[in-house]
Amino acid sequence: MLSNNRSIKILEAAEKGRYGIVSVVCYNIEAILAVARAAEAQRSPAMILLFPWAIRYASSHLIAFAASVAHSASVPIALHLDHAASPEDIRFAADLGPERGFDSIMVDMSHYEKAENLRLTKELTTYCHERGIAVEAEPGRIEGGEDGLKGTEDLTGMMTTPEEVEEFVRTGIDFLAPAFGNVHGEYGPRGVQLEFDRLESIRQEARGRVRLVLHGTTAVPPETIQRCIEHGVSKINVNKLIARPYAELLREKGGKIPTTKFMEEATCVMQERIEWQMQVCGSVAKV
Ligand SMILES: [Zn+2]
Repeated sequence: MLSNNRSIKILEAAEKGRYGIVSVVCYNIEAILAVARAAEAQRSPAMILLFPWAIRYASSHLIAFAASVAHSASVPIALHLDHAASPEDIRFAADLGPERGFDSIMVDMSHYEKAENLRLTKELTTYCHERGIAVEAEPGRIEGGEDGLKGTEDLTGMMTTPEEVEEFVRTGIDFLAPAFGNVHGEYGPRGVQLEFDRLESIRQEARGRVRLVLHGTTAVPPETIQRCIEHGVSKINVNKLIARPYAELLREKGGKIPTTKFMEEATCVMQERIEWQMQVCGSVAKV
């Protein structure tokens, strides 16, 4: 059932071609349209990410819109549910099926103790796979929190170990998001300090059985992102990349120009930022 899975196909091609897929957390239709327009303008594959917040906010409606945009684009675009931390959300999202909903889901059970985390990850991975949906998981724990994610604000990071890679790969997951110094949101005064030796040992341990994902890219310099791609990372998650310019535009022009004009300008601003990130990740002119 996974042989035609869009997320798997997009990330396999990226890893083989040594480029990264810009995977954009979207909160509204402007952002969703911006991803598709950027991808089509740059002839680049892409991924649209929604948080489980989208389910709470709009049930399946924003998801249906995103799936329609992603799957009707002239370049490969997959729809992915990021950081799904409750089994109920995951089953709801998986039941929509990949045509009306997600091509892949991040089963994030990192708030449970390890044995329970592994048990739930395995059970939910099977549930998703039976419906043709690929699965991402996070061994260890990526530090920090993001807007729209419940209960992750105070989590202390735990680096991913090679043993955990093996344990998680055995659950049947397709994509693995390692913690190797990456932080959600702000990096703080220490700045960006990624452990590339650890990332390399994680890659060795995975032995090509899963694709690797980078979370926590805010303020990470382009050359550091490119170095992650050289070390086998194929999915590059971004959030503030567009959330920040959107907020700035809202502050500057919200209520001062017609709403329709604001929406169009916001879409353009976000599209520009995504296209820039596609250049950084080397995914342009690949389709
Ligand atoms: Zn994340």
